[in-house]
Amino acid sequence: MPHATTTLHVQHRASLRKHNTFGLPAVAATLVRLTSDADVRRVVDHPEYGVAPKFVLGGGSNVVLTRDVPGVVLKVEICGRRLLREEHDAWIVEVGAGESWHEVVAWTLQQGWPGLENLALIPGLVGAAPVQNIGAYGVELKDRFDSLDAVDLVTGRTVTLDGAACHFGYRDSVFKQHLAGKSVITRVRLRLPRPWRPVLGYLDLQRKMADAGERAPDAMTVFDWVCAIRRAKLPDPAVIGNAGSFFKNPVVSPEQCRDIIGRDPEVVHYALPDGSCKLAAGWLIDACGWKGKSVGRAGVYERQALVLVNRGGASGAEVVTLARAIQESVYGRFGIRLEPEPVII
Ligand SMILES: Cc1cc2nc3c(=O)[nH]c(=O)nc-3n(C[C@H](O)[C@H](O)[C@H](O)COP(=O)(O)OP(=O)(O)OC[C@H]3O[C@@H](n4cnc5c(N)ncnc54)[C@H](O)[C@@H]3O)c2cc1C
Repeated sequence: MPHATTTLHVQHRASLRKHNTFGLPAVAATLVRLTSDADVRRVVDHPEYGVAPKFVLGGGSNVVLTRDVPGVVLKVEICGRRLLREEHDAWIVEVGAGESWHEVVAWTLQQGWPGLENLALIPGLVGAAPVQNIGAYGVELKDRFDSLDAVDLVTGRTVTLDGAACHFGYRDSVFKQHLAGKSVITRVRLRLPRPWRPVLGYLDLQRKMADAGERAPDAMTVFDWVCAIRRAKLPDPAVIGNAGSFFKNPVVSPEQCRDIIGRDPEVVHYALPDGSCKLAAGWLIDACGWKGKSVGRAGVYERQALVLVNRGGASGAEVVTLARAIQESVYGRFGIRLEPEPVII
């Protein structure tokens, strides 16, 4: 049972099954719930937790737990949302890292501050959004980012980082590189540009516009479309365990791309400004015949080959075994190494 001490909310031998959207079994030796920056500093100063290995957990929608987690799991529950300031070309909104990302998207729209609608329905918490620079339907977090606060897990000091300091890339940031596991993001400030300009370049959104006969949708309409598209394509983690896209879309050189198109003219690909080419990982996996297949109790989602699912009672090891088998067959056929998107523990 959890117990609240005067300083920290601590639980020993805590099951993480409900704290990861794959529904994988794992136990945290110690789970500490963080509701403020001061809680992070209390962990840093604690004689036992301060020196223990730590893992920061948000909503658990981008992790694959293959084992029990030793040391301390820091569960981020820092709340709060407010309009920090209005600039002539943007609204700056400050949000606690423990807030639900999707609820914040919906709330900003209700307040009349559009800009996040393309990122609707991405599971997880606000604090994790910068970690992999979440993105969907032509918008990435970095396009709506102002700055964040993070507490260093060694010194307990709070630092503020702007976009340049975060080194955002495709599903990447400094928090997946040299700051990985070293700090807790406690607050994120979003920059929502005004006047609002819709981002409607993605094919699915173009189709919605054509179907609705709507050439100038408002932000709420785009939000509804994105929600509808995602509900039709992606499994709901509350019904079937998953972590969304399991692999990043690989970026290859123009020569490699020409070679693959020569052999498989149907391959779904997008040219990038620097001449390289992004291939649709889901297409590559599907071409290797994986859609709907299973290894043990882990499987490939029937409607989207990029999503691995828990068919019921799967272990993290089964998910990883399936992922490796997919990587091997894609490498065997296309010579491309797929890189997992979720963090594998
Ligand atoms: C159905 C489904 C659809 C998805 N669709 C998309 C999509 O369209 N685009 C997309 O980009 N992602 C998508 N994802 C992946 C996932 O939702 C995002 O990566 C999300 O931001 C993860 O949030 P989380 O709170 O669950 O993070 P977690 O899974 O808890 O953590 C992910 C990583 O971030 C670190 N972390 C978490 N919080 C903090 C913090 N406060 N400070 C420091 N480090 C932290 C963790 O240590 C871990 O390394 C999808 C997932 C699912 C299940």
